[in-house]
Amino acid sequence: MNAIPPRNRPVYLDNQATTPCDPRVVTAMLPWFTEKFGNPHSAEHRMGTEAEAAVEEARAAIAALIGAEAREIVLTSGATESNNIAIKGAARFAAAHDNPRRRIVTVATEHKCVLESVADLAAEGFAPVVLPVNRDGLLDLAALEAAVDDTTLLVSVMAVNNEIGVIQDLAAIGGIARAAGALFHTDAAQAAGKIPLDVNAAGIDLMSISGHKLYGPKGVGALYVRRRPRARLSPLFSGGGQERGLRSGTLATPLIVGLGEACRIAAAEMAEEAARLTLLRARLIEGLGRAIPGLAANGSDGARIPGNLNLTFPGATADALMRALPDLCVSTGSACSSAAVEPSYVLTALGLTPEEASRTLRLGLGRFTSEADVDYAVAALSAAHGSIAHPGTATTAR
Ligand SMILES: *Cc1c(COP(=O)(O)O)cnc(C)c1O
Repeated sequence: MNAIPPRNRPVYLDNQATTPCDPRVVTAMLPWFTEKFGNPHSAEHRMGTEAEAAVEEARAAIAALIGAEAREIVLTSGATESNNIAIKGAARFAAAHDNPRRRIVTVATEHKCVLESVADLAAEGFAPVVLPVNRDGLLDLAALEAAVDDTTLLVSVMAVNNEIGVIQDLAAIGGIARAAGALFHTDAAQAAGKIPLDVNAAGIDLMSISGHKLYGPKGVGALYVRRRPRARLSPLFSGGGQERGLRSGTLATPLIVGLGEACRIAAAEMAEEAARLTLLRARLIEGLGRAIPGLAANGSDGARIPGNLNLTFPGATADALMRALPDLCVSTGSACSSAAVEPSYVLTALGLTPEEASRTLRLGLGRFTSEADVDYAVAALSAAHGSIAHPGTATTAR
């Protein structure tokens, strides 16, 4: 019995995993792959200086999106690299310059690349502190204040969580870090282009951005590095000394042009897009809630981006729902280890049991999500749930 007709194109509701490149971004990038292929570091000739000018224009657009200066932007391959440079770079600079601070404070719901970068530094004599979150996914600011002291080198707290979409209070966190004389790094991969960001208003010293989370290309990103007062980092790569010595390697002109265009579009259209996504998300949760009593939404109600819903379904596993719906692209947040499927560590950090986490799906709406996509998702998930769910395992409301 299958009430859901097959489709010739899947419905994509996984915009926290990656976003499609905006066609305007693709158009901006194309000439830099072909006729304008010069090396942006070849300052001796016109093709080099043209590429360099394009890179600098993109750098200015990236900076403008977050209230920074262009010369504070270091171009990288993505947020994973930016997070590694920020965290390991700050630690290694401190260790090499007799700064005695060794404590690095982060949060249990960070992306793996932040958690693993912090954990790796234990082997270099640093003291990682991983704080828990509240049931709503937000950091307890009193717990942060208690954990940050004059031995703290760095506080790293993400702006928006990639699974549950909650927005941390960056200004409050930045204030606590600065009062203790610690650096504040934020992984803004899910926030940049989605919510207004201002590095000065929030006291941010280091911020990571990813191209493919804001309708730009994959394989490019940026790291904001504050100049006044200066956030000092040691580079991870040895090489030609590009990006003021922080990131050696020939810059990827086409991808950087794409990231710049993505930032320009996001800055211009952010408010309008957020309003549209808020309505689409309401349509999605209202439709699903009507069809599936006992459906529970995870993460703060108020402090969240509009394009994310994280839902625990009564009586059906996320896996079974996804298997019944091959034309719907959503995500479970679980990770496959060598032994077994492990529940999402973000959901268990919120206090969900592994069993509740196994009944949870992330639905990510984006710029190219239509009302028809949302209506398909409501109909498809409702029908699949109706045929799979068995009573008696209703989720508890939260
Ligand atoms: C996607 C993501 C990353 C990794 O970004 P890449 O550019 O793919 O390396 C890091 N942090 C968060 C919160 C993300 O969503």
